[in-house]
Amino acid sequence: MKTFRGGIHPPTFKHLTQNKPIKTASLPSRVIIPLNQHTGAPARPVVNIGDKVRAGTKIGEAKGKISASVHSSISGEVKDIKDLTIIIESDGRDEKEFLNDVQDINDLSPEELKEIIAAAGIVGLGGAAFPTALKLSPPQKVDCFILNAAECEPYLTADHRLMLEKPEEIIKGMELVMKALGVKKGYIGIEDNKRDAAKRMSHFCPLGVEIEILKTKYPQGGERELIETILNRKVPSGGLPYEVGVVVNNVATVFAIYEAVYLRKPLYERVITFSGDALRQAEDLKVRIGTPIKDLIKECKGFKQEPEQVIMGGPMMGLAQQSLEVPVVKGSCGILFLKAPQWAKRKNQLKKENPCLRCGKCVEACPVNLNPSLISLAVEKKKWDAAKELNIEDCIECGACEYICPAERRLMDMIKEGKER
Ligand code: SF4
Ligand code: SF4
Repeated sequence: MKTFRGGIHPPTFKHLTQNKPIKTASLPSRVIIPLNQHTGAPARPVVNIGDKVRAGTKIGEAKGKISASVHSSISGEVKDIKDLTIIIESDGRDEKEFLNDVQDINDLSPEELKEIIAAAGIVGLGGAAFPTALKLSPPQKVDCFILNAAECEPYLTADHRLMLEKPEEIIKGMELVMKALGVKKGYIGIEDNKRDAAKRMSHFCPLGVEIEILKTKYPQGGERELIETILNRKVPSGGLPYEVGVVVNNVATVFAIYEAVYLRKPLYERVITFSGDALRQAEDLKVRIGTPIKDLIKECKGFKQEPEQVIMGGPMMGLAQQSLEVPVVKGSCGILFLKAPQWAKRKNQLKKENPCLRCGKCVEACPVNLNPSLISLAVEKKKWDAAKELNIEDCIECGACEYICPAERRLMDMIKEGKER
């Protein structure tokens, strides 16, 4: 089975949600929608306090080249605009701003498709939140598209469930992306722990689209790892996928593109995995962007026990959260509530780290062929030039080195610190 060099095999915990249908969360009474939930400049507010909005009303306009528009996720009234967030109170009616009927898409040009995708505020939903219309306008010609269906982080199953429940829509979204890019060749990279989804997707694959079953290994869903595994092309150090002729998008993003083009529906809701051993009932929830995390816990029947750790994203690359008041945003693919700190060593919460044992495990695990041990030692000694010579900039911050390290060294923190210099 195809794979990449390095990587690790953490326990996946995907059984908690992978066989349960996506559940639609109840309408929130209030949403807190950030204007800076994407890579690039924050959106500029285009509503005022007291304005009436509907689900899909544009409330923030993309500002500058790298930015994304933001839309209301409920119908109601704008209550406050402060600190780059817009607070909206629901009127309970859930009125929509868009047409919600299938459009004739055959006549749309690649440019028109990208305009619709930009107007819908679509960003990369795998976590990076880079504006998608821009990603679909690479500065040089590409020859293929890869649908990233690896979903390699433990716990997360939102993409898996979407593929099982919306395969035709995802393939239609993929065809739109290929048209926008002007490419005839597409690949779907799926780890072998999701063969049921691969089978369902295969019923709808058009000519030119191939499904590649990949070995289940973390971080298989990293763009560089996916490209190397499927196409045997290496993204150059400091480079981007388009430089080797490829654009990669994940499943949720492509599904949002389908909804934007066929239904003219802006991105104001998404599927998020709510999981972890502190929850009574793990679920993949379809939620409105801007819903506070605490309002969604009741959808999972509350806590079995207060979580010691709440992580937005997957346990390997996600961010620890200090408050349950924070809202879910476009880039939230999972929210994890963990009793025991089994992932906590890389969240700065565990025991004291020990000196490096020179075991080489981190080097074996690194998917981009770095020497995390030497890099961390260089950063510790503030030898920034040495860290640079060891290609610290190529680190994709996957956390595989730190996960595997028997000395519990905080390799990620040190590498992140070194990258900021
Ligand atoms: S050095 Fe960076 S890319 Fe390599 S394993 Fe560690 S976090 Fe991942
Ligand atoms: S895995 Fe940890 S102990 Fe082993 S070489 Fe790397 S940093 Fe040192």
